[in-house]
Amino acid sequence: MTGLYERDARTLSSMSFLRFFPQAVTGGEGSYLFDEGGRRLLDLSASWGAASLGHSHPAVRLAVDRALSNQAGASHLSGANLPAVELAERLLSIVPERAAGRVWLGHSGSDANETVARAVIAATGRPRIIAFKGAYHGGTVGSMAISGHPAQEGVPKAGGLTLVPYPNAYRDGGPEQASARALAHLDELFAGPVPPEEVAAFFLEPIQSDGGMIVPPLDFFRSVETLCHRYGILVVSDEVKVGLGRSGRLHAFEHLGIEPDIIVFGKGLGGGLPISAAVGPAAIMNHRAAFSFQTVHGNPVCASAALAVLDTIERQDLATHAARVGHHLTTLLEELKSSHPLVGDIRGRGLAVGVELVGDAKAPARRETAKVVYRAFELGLVLYYVGINSNVLEMTPSLLLSAEEAATAIEILDRALADVEAGRVADNVVAGFAGW
Ligand SMILES: *Cc1c(COP(=O)(O)O)cnc(C)c1O
Repeated sequence: MTGLYERDARTLSSMSFLRFFPQAVTGGEGSYLFDEGGRRLLDLSASWGAASLGHSHPAVRLAVDRALSNQAGASHLSGANLPAVELAERLLSIVPERAAGRVWLGHSGSDANETVARAVIAATGRPRIIAFKGAYHGGTVGSMAISGHPAQEGVPKAGGLTLVPYPNAYRDGGPEQASARALAHLDELFAGPVPPEEVAAFFLEPIQSDGGMIVPPLDFFRSVETLCHRYGILVVSDEVKVGLGRSGRLHAFEHLGIEPDIIVFGKGLGGGLPISAAVGPAAIMNHRAAFSFQTVHGNPVCASAALAVLDTIERQDLATHAARVGHHLTTLLEELKSSHPLVGDIRGRGLAVGVELVGDAKAPARRETAKVVYRAFELGLVLYYVGINSNVLEMTPSLLLSAEEAATAIEILDRALADVEAGRVADNVVAGFAGW
């Protein structure tokens, strides 16, 4: 009999593959996935944070069942439906006042960022956008056009895009220096090649996740916000991966001490179902009717799932839980550090944690990183890597991860690191897994 992974390879287009090991699952519950052979895999990725409440969460199941048992259409393009309206009301109630205008609903972080990028230019008449080198804002033409991640090298960028360095304390000589350098770069741009009055919006990730889980220095974004306010530039916080409780606060931008004008949600919003949202001032988000839509946007099933997710995050105070378990996870990782030369830096907020693996003189340990996630999978742990050098382990588990599960995960990671460091994992095992 052919295994599921082989059937997948024979039938599904590899264009959407981002594979690190031969994972093929048939079910899941909570923080665990189950594979064909009945193996239980502890999932520290939660499908890149999309399964924010873990797998098969009862609140999401119930909400989806209900929505489908009396289906209020499949779209909100040409008529209102209750779940979409309730979701919009809910989102408006949780964002800062300056952003609480209108809600645009989409399927993915990509379509939401793309829509915001188009809307800010069209509505303000300003042709430019600033975003960060290493930023990942999506995989559609318009969202790739404002991204700076090297995995998208060769993809055309928006004509008005300027990419600026994201301050990286680990690589740029500490937080103050990293921050000062990045701000000086902005000042130079604004004094010359990029007139600030031509800039419509500044897109930021409150933690640069796919770029390497880089936590910005304290106060950096306060200075960016001050500049943006001075020149009337809209601040867009891309909360797709680290928002909605994951960072230990409801919004990741709360750690930055700023109040964005536009906030983009995705991934975890749907708890595993495809839904995204962009929330911002009516002057932008109501730019023009029929400006940006896809047929089943605002579909009541996904909106119901999102409502259940937001309800659960609030009722169970999962932001606080994420802060607590994240602290536990990070403490355990710090304890590992002394016995593993590969571990260079541990950083993150709440349950958005990155572990940068390095060799001598902080050289990115790209091959070792691929082997570590492969070996961890063999030992029963699912986690992937990110980073512009493909050398940062990323942990974005279920917001309901328990302290015990965190401890189990770190035990497995400990063994995986040791096996790779001791040369017990052959180069060829990762040959078929390109990752990114
Ligand atoms: C994943 C991600 C996106 C894109 O979301 P998709 O659901 O893949 O379209 C956008 N921004 C950030 C910060 C992300 O992590």
